[in-house]
Parts: sequence; C-alpha cells; structure tokens
Amino acid sequence: MIMKRFLFISIILSVLISACNQQEKSNGNIYSTAPEGAIVLFDGRDFSQWTNCDGGEVRWKIADGIMEVVPDSTYACKRIQGIMTKQLFNDFQLHVEFLLPESENTNSGVYIQRRYEVQINDEYNAENSPGMGGSIYRQKIPDVNVSKPKGEWQTYDIIFRAARFDPADPAKKVENARITVLHNNVVIHNNVIITTKTGVGDPEGPEPGPIMLQDHLAPVKFRNIWVIPNVPAKTLPEVKK
Ligand code: MG
Repeated sequence: MIMKRFLFISIILSVLISACNQQEKSNGNIYSTAPEGAIVLFDGRDFSQWTNCDGGEVRWKIADGIMEVVPDSTYACKRIQGIMTKQLFNDFQLHVEFLLPESENTNSGVYIQRRYEVQINDEYNAENSPGMGGSIYRQKIPDVNVSKPKGEWQTYDIIFRAARFDPADPAKKVENARITVLHNNVVIHNNVIITTKTGVGDPEGPEPGPIMLQDHLAPVKFRNIWVIPNVPAKTLPEVKK
C-alpha cells in the first residue's frame, strides 16, 4: 500500500514537473502545453471539437484565443446548459484553464461524461459546502481551497476512471467512478470515489460520455483544453480505504 501511494505521488509529481517544464509564456500569461498523445480540445482557434448541449452549433464566442460563455437563458437544453465534446470518453486525463469574471456572481463547471460535475464557482460562494469551487458537486468538498480570486486564470487537471458495469448486466454497477483533481497544481481530490451522478447529470451507465463545460448564466472564460483518453487503469492508484 505504501509503495502504491509512493508510486502515485511520484506519478503526480512527474506530471506536474513535466507540465512546468512545458510551460511557455504568451501575452504575459502562462500556458501548459498539451503533451504528446493528447487530443487538443481547444487551442484558441475554433470550436471544431465541440457542439452545443443540444447537438447544434456552439454559440459561445472566441476572442484573443479564449472562449467565453454566452449565457443562454432560454434553457434550450433544460437540465445542463453548455457545450460538450463531440468525442465521448471513458477513462482520461484532462487539462482545462478557466477564469471567472470579476463583476459577476459566477458559476460553471466541468461535467465529466455529462454525469459528474467538478464545480467552478466564485472563491467565496458556498464555501465549505459541496457547491464551492473545486467540489464534486453535492458529494465532496475539496481537501483544500486553493481557489484564486476572480479575474485570475486557474487550472484543473483531472484524472478520471469511469464506473465499471457488469458486461452481462449493463444495469449493474460493479465499481464506482474515481477521480483525482489538481486545482492550480494542488491535489484537492486524491483518487476518491464518486458514488453516483451529481446534481442534474446524466444517469450513470457503461457508455462513454462527453466532457461538458457548463453555462450557468455567467460569462466564464476557458482556454487551453486537452485530454489524454484511455489512461490505463493500472497507472491509477488503489482506492484509499
Ligand atoms: Mg456549476
């Protein structure tokens, strides 16, 4: 167990060191470039990897290499507004950068497989409740609150292992989903179990799902998004008991 934990910490450190080594400055901002083998979901140019939540064309805007939520108060998608990847994913590692506007009461989120939300929120909103920034919505608050003030760029690095289902009975879950989240390069969830879908997320199931960025009626900005699909399960640590 100790060796496995040491191995896990080593893997995380090597990911971080690698990310730091690959940082480059552009327009005064620091970017972590996508490593080899990653699928670039947004490089500042277009929405070619994305659709609106209703499957139609994305209606958010891009300026200066940054995408911005254009709030859609029609709630055309009912449960979860936003944009989602065209590609569907099971296990993966995801990097996403976001910025909350200073003047707004902000809320957004990263919906994994459209089922589980890693919350994006104002640093003081819902503090110490599972609606705060970095929480697994309504399930677990972050181990530490490392949110930056509004108006500053922040990062999530998410390592996700999908729930497993019995091939002979696809309705029977045999293993919960698990997640590790680094917020601004600090581990805030360390290979924790997600017991069920969060909030208004889609029901759990064996099918892969899209990665979704939430429109919660605030002009949140995103940039530099990439994913490494099918991260082998063996590279993930054992669940802490
Ligand atoms: Mg949210």
